[in-house]
Amino acid sequence: MYRERVERECAEYNAGQGYLDATDGIDCPLCKNRGYVAKAIKHDLFGYWTTVMAECECKKQRTSVRRIKASGLAGAISRCTFDTFEAMDDWQIRMKSTAQRYVNGNGGLWFYAGGQIGAGKTHICTAICGELLKQNQSVLYMLWKDESTRLKSLVNDTEVREREIGKYKSVDVLYIDDFFKSQRSGGKAVPPTPADLSLAFEILNHRYVARKKTVISSEWMISEICDIDEAVGSRIYEMSKGSCCQISRDKTRNFRTREVPCEKG
Ligand SMILES: [Zn+2]
Repeated sequence: MYRERVERECAEYNAGQGYLDATDGIDCPLCKNRGYVAKAIKHDLFGYWTTVMAECECKKQRTSVRRIKASGLAGAISRCTFDTFEAMDDWQIRMKSTAQRYVNGNGGLWFYAGGQIGAGKTHICTAICGELLKQNQSVLYMLWKDESTRLKSLVNDTEVREREIGKYKSVDVLYIDDFFKSQRSGGKAVPPTPADLSLAFEILNHRYVARKKTVISSEWMISEICDIDEAVGSRIYEMSKGSCCQISRDKTRNFRTREVPCEKG
C-alpha cells in the first residue's frame, strides 16, 4: 500500500476515542484511552507500507491500577505504607526493617508476622503488598476466616472449587490475613478444624513447591502452628527464615519481636 493511504488510516484510527479511563481513571492524550496507537511502518522485506498497533505508554500504569484493584487491597495500600507505620519501640523498628528487607528480596521467600493482636501486623503486611505491586507482581488478599469458609462450602462443586482455590495457588504473591483465626469458646481459643488444616496445606504446599511469595499474618506463633499441624508449620518456618516477626502476647503492650524457630525438641 501507499504510504499516504496508510498514514491517513492511522490518523483516522488515532483520532477516535476510547473508554479505558472509565475503569481505571487514567486519562491519556496519546491513545485517547484506547491503550493502542496506530503507526505506519515500512515493511522491511517487501518494501510496502502497513499499519501496526503499538501498545501505548499508559498501558503499564493501567495494568498496575488493574492489579491493585484485583488484589483486594485497593483501599488499604494507600493508607498502610511503610511511611505511615509508626515505629517507636525496638520491636516495631525491627518489624519494619525486616519487612523492608523482604520487599528488597532479602530474607525468606515468605513473610510471617505472628502474635499479639493489634500490633500492626496487618499494616506491615499491607505495606509489603503495596511495594510488591509496585514491582509489577500480582497480589491477592485472602482474609482467612471468610475465604476458608467460602472455599470449604464448595466441596460439592469440583470445577468451581478448583478454579477458586487455583487463584490462591497461582498468584505471584498471596497475602493471607489472620491465618487460622481462632473461634472462641468460653474465652478459650479453639484450634482449626481438619477441613481448615487440609485447605491450608493444599494452598501452602502448592506455593511451597512452586516457590511463590506468600505473606502471612496470624495471631499464632509459628511454634503454635507447628503444634497444630506440623506439615503446615514446618513449611512456614522453613520459608520465612530471615523474614519472620513474632510479637509476644503482652497485656501491658510491652511487645517485643524476635525470630522464633519451631520450638519443638
Ligand atoms: Zn495511552
